[in-house]
Amino acid sequence: MSNTLHVDYKLMSYDETVKIVEEAMRAARQEIPKGEVADYIPELGKVDPNQLGICIYPLRGDKICLGDYQTRFTIQSISKIISLCVALELFGAEKLFEKVEAEPSGEAFNSLVELDLNSNKPYNPLINSGALAVAGMLIEEVSFHDMLRFARELCDDDQIVMNRDVYDSEMATCSRNRAIAYLLESKGIIRTDVEDALRFYTKLCSLDVTAESLANFANRLANDGVGNISEKRYLSSKNVRIVKTLMLTCGMYDGSGTYAVEVGIPTKSGVGGGLLAVSDKRAGIGVFGPSLDKKGNSIAGCRLLKEIASRLRLTLFFDTDLLNASRKNYSLNDFPKHHLK
Ligand code: GLU
Repeated sequence: MSNTLHVDYKLMSYDETVKIVEEAMRAARQEIPKGEVADYIPELGKVDPNQLGICIYPLRGDKICLGDYQTRFTIQSISKIISLCVALELFGAEKLFEKVEAEPSGEAFNSLVELDLNSNKPYNPLINSGALAVAGMLIEEVSFHDMLRFARELCDDDQIVMNRDVYDSEMATCSRNRAIAYLLESKGIIRTDVEDALRFYTKLCSLDVTAESLANFANRLANDGVGNISEKRYLSSKNVRIVKTLMLTCGMYDGSGTYAVEVGIPTKSGVGGGLLAVSDKRAGIGVFGPSLDKKGNSIAGCRLLKEIASRLRLTLFFDTDLLNASRKNYSLNDFPKHHLK
């Protein structure tokens, strides 16, 4: 057996690609009953768990959108990526990493244990303690309305608004985040008004997005921070690299390692059921599937991404078996366009 990989970049048709995504959707739906919607924020407990939608936005080629890809849901933790992008642009990496580390925590997203016992800095900006620290920095420079504008721009979606019911519901039940925020103040990490930082963070978690808006954002991250059509630069290349690296190592809570092995696409999840996945130089992907696994990640969404990751060659790393298995139906950089079918 030759150990040299010969890759012939044959283009599959748009219809073939859609068929693969449809098959993956069918497989992923089987997972829905194994999970549950988040209900620690009471309003999220009312969401129909059976929804599932995906939007794949390749850098070259047409969008593939299936299922509930236009349904609005709250962005939750995926807002931490928007905040991180804005904070990196405003303060630069050096200043940001004075307040927060860039290490996986291995603890639940809303844990205060490691912050209290092991460290004087949150482990990373993608867990609640880190995001609250970032919120404390941001409120000194920008308003919530500025952030809403950035979110709309990055997601190319001017319909994004704050979901007031989810916001009120979370503010009424956020003792744990409040405890984290005050712990951060006690350690001198939050130096502004703690309640302001908490409200700012919670408002950002309550932004209503769709799988398609997440795909638009992910597409720009996949394209080095530049719009693939407008060619406008939204974020610096260096900052985009940092964001994608943190998504790979810390984006799926304490399931990040297993997810990286199984799916291999830098992704950030939110307890609203969203997934923002960046297949570098290939495609941005947004998923909505509110039934969550035990770690708080969309159970059907993860399965869906796992199914398409190798078949559409979206993963970061390939082994020989994967390459051979997907040889007949992959697209790498060149996603098909409608007119090629
Ligand atoms: N607003 C949620 C919280 O702070 C976001 C959590 C998440 O999506 O992981 O608990």
